[in-house]
Amino acid sequence: MKLSEYLPETPALAKQMTDLNAQIGMFQLMKASGDVGTAPTMGLDHVVNTWVRHQMAYRQQLVMDIQTIAMSVEEIRSPISHITGEVFRRGIQWKATKADPDHEQQERFTKFLDDCNVFDQSLEEVLKQFHYDINTVDDGFLYLAKEYKTMDDDSLRSKIIEIRRLNPALVEFDLDAAGLPKNAHFLCPIHRDDVQDTPQTCEHPTCKLLCQPVMYKYYHRNKHIYLFDSEVIHVSKFSPSETYGWSPILTVFEKALTLIGMDKNLYRYFFERKMPASMIMVFTDDPESLRRERSNMAAQTRLDPNFVPMVAVSARNNRGRVDMVRLFHTLQEMDYLPVRQEVRERIAAMWGVTPAWQGAPEAFGGLSTQTQQLVVMSRVVEGDQRMFHDKVFPLILDAFGITDWVLELPTPEEKAEATRISFAQQRVAVASQLNQMGFTVKLKDQGEDMESISFVIEGESVPMTQFQGESQALQIEQTMQQMEQQEQQQQLQQQQQEMMGGASPEGEEEGGEEGGEDEGDEDEMAQAQLAQAKEEPDEDEDEDLNDSEQYDEV
Ligand SMILES: [Zn+2]
Repeated sequence: MKLSEYLPETPALAKQMTDLNAQIGMFQLMKASGDVGTAPTMGLDHVVNTWVRHQMAYRQQLVMDIQTIAMSVEEIRSPISHITGEVFRRGIQWKATKADPDHEQQERFTKFLDDCNVFDQSLEEVLKQFHYDINTVDDGFLYLAKEYKTMDDDSLRSKIIEIRRLNPALVEFDLDAAGLPKNAHFLCPIHRDDVQDTPQTCEHPTCKLLCQPVMYKYYHRNKHIYLFDSEVIHVSKFSPSETYGWSPILTVFEKALTLIGMDKNLYRYFFERKMPASMIMVFTDDPESLRRERSNMAAQTRLDPNFVPMVAVSARNNRGRVDMVRLFHTLQEMDYLPVRQEVRERIAAMWGVTPAWQGAPEAFGGLSTQTQQLVVMSRVVEGDQRMFHDKVFPLILDAFGITDWVLELPTPEEKAEATRISFAQQRVAVASQLNQMGFTVKLKDQGEDMESISFVIEGESVPMTQFQGESQALQIEQTMQQMEQQEQQQQLQQQQQEMMGGASPEGEEEGGEEGGEDEGDEDEMAQAQLAQAKEEPDEDEDEDLNDSEQYDEV
């Protein structure tokens, strides 16, 4: 890895760029010719172009190093595999774009989904590799190998015969000296062996085709294979540029190397260590008797594992001393585990993968944190799926002439379910708050899913005092109604008693008890409430008066 070697050159390159800009004379290019004027198309900046061309010498090595790191560091490999797994977990699915889709279009492509190249890979497998490249190197190259054919009217037709993943280490942008792509080499799609330097018609005797510009070159067995723009799908996720992306592994490079070092250290600590963990040093004038005593104890212990040794030590002079010298530090002493945890989290954050998804038990805190982590992760997955929906599938389907169908990667539903439920909870909470404020809250659509529930808010907020006043008025009304009902009941009972003419004293007593006391209590309560209610509106008015007085003073 020779990254640092690039950096000292930059100031010199910047000067070169200034010189070059002066030489090119941008205004020359911008002159109009005839009726049509065109602003110039600039190639890559000179500094960048030189850097990119320079880098190509190392790029192969660099990309291979990145791939090795991605594969060998568990903390990098597992988050990336996790995302790839989630993106493709429910497979690739068909979706019709119109009511009566042409099923023949679908059939033509279905064979390809299962076996899309000479290695019998399924399209999903190829796309998984492609996705892994994007997440590690930040450059994914998908090769659509095409068969070309001239029709009778000299028009050119093509069809895809293979879809392959190209190793990003071996793919180069074919840039000319000015940093422009599609300007260095030109090819006839049918006679690809004749590489031209200028756009011209094919030199083959019977061929009238115009040579097409080359966008990519693929390094294959010591020579370059030139490829058209329409034959390669290139995607960068983290830092897309005109050409190559910038691998996130380069950003966490030192952390990754730290982890590799830590792993090696652990391995040596537990497996390779050739020294005892500690040593006991005894200071004594008589080492020989100590050795005898020790071997005696060892022998006794071998005979009887439960043997308890007894050693007599003279207390007359206290000069003997025993030291234990530890030759190794424990993992805690080295602060090994927290450091590793920290590095691990930082690295996973690069890909937006949170501890909950890596199965670290301490990550499972409250429900809310967990939900938040799930949200983050499902956004990463959705983002990556969108990349396929926007940049990969349309190109493939277009090449197959499929118009009635689209390919889709369904979002991992059940994982997102918890998130959606928590969103619904939040909506309900807000709606109930608004309802308390006096707004009218209605369901937006009847018969809606619980998760996609939504509300329509109408009306105005009612001030708390008015709201309380209204509810009090309602209470009073209810109390009045109760009183009326009780009066009616009382009258009814009295009538009944009169009709019975006081025949049974027991009945009278019971009637007296039930009717008399209860009704009396309720009467008192109702009257008290009535009195309160009569008082309170007055209080409100008073308060209002007070308010306005205060207002005037200010
Ligand atoms: Zn040709």
